Amino acid sequence: MALKLGVHWFRQDLRVNHNPSIEALAKRVDKIIPIFIFDPKLRIGSVSKWWLEQSLKNLSETIRKKNGKLNFFIGDPLKIISSIILENNIDFFSWNRLYDPYSINRDKKIKSTLISKDIYCETFNSYLLNEPWNIKNKSGYFFKVFTPYWRFCNEITRFKKFDNQLQNFKFLNSNLKNSIKLDDLNLTDKKKKWTNKIYKNWAPGESNAQAQLKQFIASKANKYSIGRDRPDQNLTSKLSPYLHFGEISPMQTYKNISLSNNINSENKNKFLSELGWRDFSYNLLYHYPDMIHKPIQTKFKNFPWLKVNKNLQKWQKGFTGIPIVDAGMRQLYETGWMHNRVRMIVGSFLTKNLLLHWKNGEEWFFDTLVDADIGSNAAGWQWISGCGADASPYFRIFNPILQGQKFDPNGDYVKKFVPELQNVSKKYIHNPWEMSEESQMSCACVIGKDYPAPIVDLKETRNRALSAFKSIS
Ligand SMILES: Cc1cc2nc3c(=O)[nH]c(=O)nc-3n(C[C@H](O)[C@H](O)[C@H](O)COP(=O)(O)OP(=O)(O)OC[C@H]3O[C@@H](n4cnc5c(N)ncnc54)[C@H](O)[C@@H]3O)c2cc1C
Repeated sequence: MALKLGVHWFRQDLRVNHNPSIEALAKRVDKIIPIFIFDPKLRIGSVSKWWLEQSLKNLSETIRKKNGKLNFFIGDPLKIISSIILENNIDFFSWNRLYDPYSINRDKKIKSTLISKDIYCETFNSYLLNEPWNIKNKSGYFFKVFTPYWRFCNEITRFKKFDNQLQNFKFLNSNLKNSIKLDDLNLTDKKKKWTNKIYKNWAPGESNAQAQLKQFIASKANKYSIGRDRPDQNLTSKLSPYLHFGEISPMQTYKNISLSNNINSENKNKFLSELGWRDFSYNLLYHYPDMIHKPIQTKFKNFPWLKVNKNLQKWQKGFTGIPIVDAGMRQLYETGWMHNRVRMIVGSFLTKNLLLHWKNGEEWFFDTLVDADIGSNAAGWQWISGCGADASPYFRIFNPILQGQKFDPNGDYVKKFVPELQNVSKKYIHNPWEMSEESQMSCACVIGKDYPAPIVDLKETRNRALSAFKSIS
């Protein structure tokens, strides 16, 4: 009798365990054919390409150890999948769903093509705790505000089952026609020297994701409520790139945290709600598919953003003269990641003090973050610039000096990423331009020579932003 074959199409679910599509196929077929298609039309940043390559290497090795072969392709997924089903005797085809508008459209077409060719096709949720179309308020509309959204979702998620029992499954060990080598996807540009620095900070892959979660629960999670706001303390999970590439699922993360005896309820609730923000971003993206490019609040179409000017590059590279902003932007450029508190500070500085369009920030983050995520990034930028559905109020313009003094009180974070400020005292670490000339000389930090003077006046630009917001309200 012929073997029953099913294809699992890997996308942002680069793991073999706790993978709903693989688990479903395991029940239906004798062997699973694992494929990965690099779709050049899907947006991906420079640093994410590196992560993707490493993650695929790791996944390919895991599959090889299970006597299988991960087949790589590049091009239009519809054409590639159509040719795979023509060349092979496939009974089932499945994948885990994505929620950005491009993937939704593309996948709909692929699913209907498969069904028209009598191939049984099924898709699953593994990327979110709850899918956007399932979450509605009492009036039947989607939630636009996070707090009631999360209250509702958390209640549902608490009762969802997560099975720790791993399924047994077998992969097919053969090269499909037209499959190529991972290297032929040409994901990393070896000439981009700045990205080389980033690599040493991270270890992509499923087993590393599991280790990261375990280590977080054992040593950091019970201080998370503090760590969430303190960039000077390494107390957040750094799970974001693993969650983005699906090397670990949000459901496993949710369950392992909520069932842990190591974490008190305050820290648990805080952490779980952040997973909620991740879901909420996709809730917004699903209902506002244009939000990657356009403000959710339409009145922002008339917002008087300034034309891109030389301040953008100073912001990107961390030479604004505002220490906490520069530390954040340099952390991003050197490590591919930035603490959430600082993402908000640099975002507020770009869109309010520099009055530059949030899209400039969205694009820079997307290219340089290891966790660049189409939903969370757009939602983060719309929130901080004030144009999102559930945005920070327009008058909340972060004062980067006060933020620095509150959340990096000794200046350790600033000093780590801005070495020019190494010898500046605690009193002036967040406002070094206020030091006397004598003090500047004695700590080898002469403003305008060793470290830039602020590129804008914080008070003046705050007032300018307030007037701009009033002009559209
Ligand atoms: C302007 C801006 C842009 C952002 N861009 C991205 C992005 O491209 N990709 C991304 O994953 N996150 C983004 N975030 C959210 C957040 O900063 C990161 O998820 C978080 O800093 C990742 O570090 P962590 O894994 O240690 O987080 P933890 O604090 O340990 O949180 C655990 C997980 O919850 C999720 N999470 C936490 N905070 C948020 C949030 N505010 N919104 C959505 N999900 C959240 C992440 O998946 C994270 O891994 C952005 C925030 C802002 C303000």
